[in-house]
Amino acid sequence: MENCRKVDIECNKWFQRRILQDVAEQTVVINPAYPPLEYGELDESFEYPYAREPHPRYKKRGAVPAFDMIKFSINTHRGCFGGCSFCAINAHQGKFIASRSRESILREVDLITKMDGFAGTITDLGGPSANMYNMRGRDQSRCQKCARASCLTPKICDNMDTHHKEILELYREVRNHPKVKHLFIGSGVRYDMLLQETDDAELRRDHEEYARELIDYHVSGRLKVAPEHTSDEVLKLMRKPSFTLFHKFKEFFDDECKRIGKRQQIIPYFISSHPGCTEADMAELALETKQLGFQLEQVQDFTPTPMTIATEMFYSELSPDGKPLYVAKTPEQKKSQRQFFFWYIPENRPQIRATLERLKLGKIGRLLLSRSAKAEGKEFFPSKERESNAEYREREQQKREQRSVTIVPKKVGEKGRWENSARRERRAAQFGNASGNNERRDFHANRDRRDFNKNRSNRDFNNGRNNGGNRGGNKNTPPVQFSSRRRGK
Ligand code: SF4
Repeated sequence: MENCRKVDIECNKWFQRRILQDVAEQTVVINPAYPPLEYGELDESFEYPYAREPHPRYKKRGAVPAFDMIKFSINTHRGCFGGCSFCAINAHQGKFIASRSRESILREVDLITKMDGFAGTITDLGGPSANMYNMRGRDQSRCQKCARASCLTPKICDNMDTHHKEILELYREVRNHPKVKHLFIGSGVRYDMLLQETDDAELRRDHEEYARELIDYHVSGRLKVAPEHTSDEVLKLMRKPSFTLFHKFKEFFDDECKRIGKRQQIIPYFISSHPGCTEADMAELALETKQLGFQLEQVQDFTPTPMTIATEMFYSELSPDGKPLYVAKTPEQKKSQRQFFFWYIPENRPQIRATLERLKLGKIGRLLLSRSAKAEGKEFFPSKERESNAEYREREQQKREQRSVTIVPKKVGEKGRWENSARRERRAAQFGNASGNNERRDFHANRDRRDFNKNRSNRDFNNGRNNGGNRGGNKNTPPVQFSSRRRGK
């Protein structure tokens, strides 16, 4: 966790340092990224004479569905300062936004309108987050010394200029292009920037103007946003804003759609089994989204992604500040979380009912399973309750802590739990070196030796080759070196 935190800090800096870590007899080197590109420096790489077609090797396999999505879409910038803990964008594109110039983007619009099959619709004009185009800190010298992972959470940095003027002007120019009938925004929008609490009336007007134009002209029928979860504790670990902001944004969206007379939907993205997320958190997510009228489709189960702090939480079962964390890892634990997304499928109800009874979730359970609660006007939003009721917040926090102790038995060698060094150290501190885990390792070592002796006739064949497939077997055979650093020896 400590190593990952160091990498996380370095890759969020303006001027990064090289990181070295000794691993056995070798050293892992993470080279620093170049300082962020200035406005327009990206243009050249976007304006080479690309074929704008899938690679010819795919021709035999027929149409590429992903290509249809991106064929008429335009990238405006790279980088994202959201800093979500499960996302690797900051590791490979950076926290600071590198934007293409307005002229370069408009040249690409021209090019696209001349492409075969273009019928007047540009499907996306965005980047990792659609509304971060050309955004930066007001005082660049402050940004150059800053190592915050996110400019948006836990609070939007007072130095970040969240004006949307430039991206709005770009939208207007593109939709006024004679050959463009529709310009849709397919990339995710950071609605928390649009709901920023500020005393600056002009900035509030700017945010509202962007939100209205987006909803009025640039939604293809479904606007993608990513609240990712509803539980504050999980959102904190994800480095995402509170779900109450999503409530506010949805209210605004629905009112605006009604005002302009368009039937449009918000499509919210959610993740289950994120480190720190429990079944009770998922039950709360199911209830909140049910009451908001969603039957979720765009959901995913957490997948560890290299170079992210969430992946480190997943393996170490620790939060970034070193506290033990519940992590759903076995297929059963993950399935039990995922089922809550699909509470509306009748076949899932018995299993969901059993889980809710086991968790003793009372009101949340009753409302989630009820078919008539909404019609009877019974509603309960835990996220809103937490925000307005300090007593409820405290009670929930206590329950959560109790649950995290009892929810997963921390037995040594429990089936399905993964082995890792952080857990080994915790166990060593808890049980001493004579833990059951060490005994189990010895047993495996003996078994390997037994297997090896059984296959004695293969020994000569294996000698001089990779002995990795016969782990712990012939202790006298030196391991084959794969590293290019050793070739010269
Ligand atoms: S100073 Fe603020 S705006 Fe600049 S990088 Fe740090 S958090 Fe982001």
